[in-house]
Amino acid sequence: MTKQWIAGVDLGGTTTKIAFITLDGEIIKKWEIPTDNSNEGKNITVNIANSISEKLKELGQTKDQLAGIGMGAPGPVNYETGVMLNTVNLGWQSNFPLQASLEQAASLPALIENDANCAALGEMWKGAGNGAKDIVCVTLGTGVGGGVIANGNIVQGVNGAAGEIGHTTAIPEGGAPCNCGKTGCLETIASATGIVRLAKEALSMPGVAGELAEKYSSDGSVSAKDVFDCARNGDSIAIKVLNEVACHLGLVLANIANTLNPEKIVLGGGVSKAGDILLNAVKSQFERFSFSSVKDSTKLALATLGNDAGVIGAAWLIKNKLLEC
Ligand SMILES: [Zn+2]
Repeated sequence: MTKQWIAGVDLGGTTTKIAFITLDGEIIKKWEIPTDNSNEGKNITVNIANSISEKLKELGQTKDQLAGIGMGAPGPVNYETGVMLNTVNLGWQSNFPLQASLEQAASLPALIENDANCAALGEMWKGAGNGAKDIVCVTLGTGVGGGVIANGNIVQGVNGAAGEIGHTTAIPEGGAPCNCGKTGCLETIASATGIVRLAKEALSMPGVAGELAEKYSSDGSVSAKDVFDCARNGDSIAIKVLNEVACHLGLVLANIANTLNPEKIVLGGGVSKAGDILLNAVKSQFERFSFSSVKDSTKLALATLGNDAGVIGAAWLIKNKLLEC
């Protein structure tokens, strides 16, 4: 019997997304299970394997239907060995053999990759990349992640740490502290958390007024979405924050493009839901900082797959492996 589906898994600290995906990248069925990171994470791969078996049964299928399991994991992964190097959020010891653990639990071949890289592969295969083989994806969420794809393959780097665009230094002196231990990383500016920080700084100035200031004084809080909504309405403080974010993000992306000249740079993650107001602001800064032949050929685009990018990209790992055979 030919194997028609791939299981794509997007492992998160609290929730795991799972999907059955055809060899053409179409989602047949998707669902979520809680990530049980108690007991040193002993149940994580077993729960995923059991959930996959149950769902196959529900759909009147057996494991013979699956070519394998691709998984995106939240941290650095050695793609060759399937070992997860740093597993702070999941309860595992460092250097956890995730691929071997999943293969044993599910009795299926498995491949593991970093989750931001999976999102990039997903966008390359079925999303904004639209089949382009040279793309860079930037995920603007609580943090800033990234994935660099050259000729259809993730650029891994010597220690699996390539594509960590969020930790590019944007403010060399006196920047805000970052989770990685440095200061002034792009993540401290262009993540949802960074945008909120910049907004609060701007709102703490004396004599501020306008929609964002009114919202902040009545709610006592401000979100990245508030900043974009108010910027869309012409609020001057929100526009100032947006321009600051766009300036730093546009500069980093232009320097990446000046180095790699990818076909596309795709902006994804929750912050990218701001849409054109963000994209256009970043584009104008990108054009300012990229040199002419790059400006003419590297295009900026918004991600199109949303939360599905991770499971689709994880499935691509297996699809790509099948193509090699
Ligand atoms: Zn950092």
